[in-house]
Amino acid sequence: MSRENTTTTLRPSTRGERLGFSEIVKIRNEVLAMTAAGKHIIRLEGGEPFPPTPDFVKDAIKRSVDENRTRYAPSSGIAPLLEAIVAKLARRNAIQTDESRIIVVNGGAHGLFCSFQATLDEGDEALFLAPYWTPIRDLVAFAGGKAILLSWDDALGEGPAAAIEKRITSKTRLLYLNSPSNPTGNVLGRSDLEAIARLAVERDLVVISDEAYEDLLYEEPHVSIASLPGMGERTLTVFTLSKSYSLTGVRVGYVVAPEPFMTVIRKLVLNSTNGVSTPAQYGALAALSDRSGYLDGMRDEYRLRRDLLLKAVNGAGFKCKAPRGAFYLLPDVTERLGGDSWGAMKALLEATGIASVPGAVFGREGEGRLRMSFSTSLDVLEEASEALRRF
Ligand code: PLP
Repeated sequence: MSRENTTTTLRPSTRGERLGFSEIVKIRNEVLAMTAAGKHIIRLEGGEPFPPTPDFVKDAIKRSVDENRTRYAPSSGIAPLLEAIVAKLARRNAIQTDESRIIVVNGGAHGLFCSFQATLDEGDEALFLAPYWTPIRDLVAFAGGKAILLSWDDALGEGPAAAIEKRITSKTRLLYLNSPSNPTGNVLGRSDLEAIARLAVERDLVVISDEAYEDLLYEEPHVSIASLPGMGERTLTVFTLSKSYSLTGVRVGYVVAPEPFMTVIRKLVLNSTNGVSTPAQYGALAALSDRSGYLDGMRDEYRLRRDLLLKAVNGAGFKCKAPRGAFYLLPDVTERLGGDSWGAMKALLEATGIASVPGAVFGREGEGRLRMSFSTSLDVLEEASEALRRF
């Protein structure tokens, strides 16, 4: 083979270049370097639920392995789990649907990947609020879409539906919503969602609704946009068990979507993962069948932690409103640490040992802010509060 041929063949696909790597790795490296140098780090940079996986879920996973439920299962999900999802959607999300519109996927990330691939064509515009969960921009780009960003602050200022409407062009195909939102903790309430739903119907938009934090709202009940009039036929809702049941490493979630999108998602799953690990699905079945009040108890624990860290953060001269959902604070730190969020992250880490995520990781609209997770033990939050008091 000539040298010329080798260089042209041994190259990655150009499509692969549309995807990036998470910048959060850079923070982890910084934290590891400081830990190796003997410094104690107060870790608020993560995105993990703080409680351990509940026993009733762990037991179901173990039982499924012991009972040899370790073979190929239907690639769209095991029948009892699909049935439990139908019941859960009716009970908690006011979404009336059936198994034909549901597919089990490997967590929210996989559900989102498939949903963007199933909806966007080259050049389609996808509108979403910023700061946003970092992978979304890449998922849109990989599907050939063009990201159109709208700041959360503007949206909340003028009303989300009105702000969204201004950004709609002849190429706008899709609206991605994430309520409660990572990283802002913002929630779109019922009246906002009703207005957005009316707009989506009027302007014929597809909606991808990422409801990863559906069980973590502190002031109001969660509303699924797919439950609103006219939305079932145009909404792909992505659910995950990662945050609600501390199952981030088990990789299980589900997508609720109408045709013609569902057929594409089924083909994407079949040709990529060929379904979700069977024991993980039995774990999900146990989680969704639980009636012990586990989620209510957890929400109270998170609220306690939110209020603790919020007080300390505001006491240190940062500016932060109480997030209505999820488990992050995203304070404005400009007055004390300047507008460059990477510099601010490093300065706070040096001065207090607190690790956080620079807001810029979540898009330009995150500049001047730091994301701090309150999903950790009360001891760590006490330590963080003390460090912020001294700062
Ligand atoms: N959506 C949002 C907004 C998230 O923050 C996350 C995880 O951090 C996910 C989806 C995906 O979670 P997973 O793939 O663990 O289910």
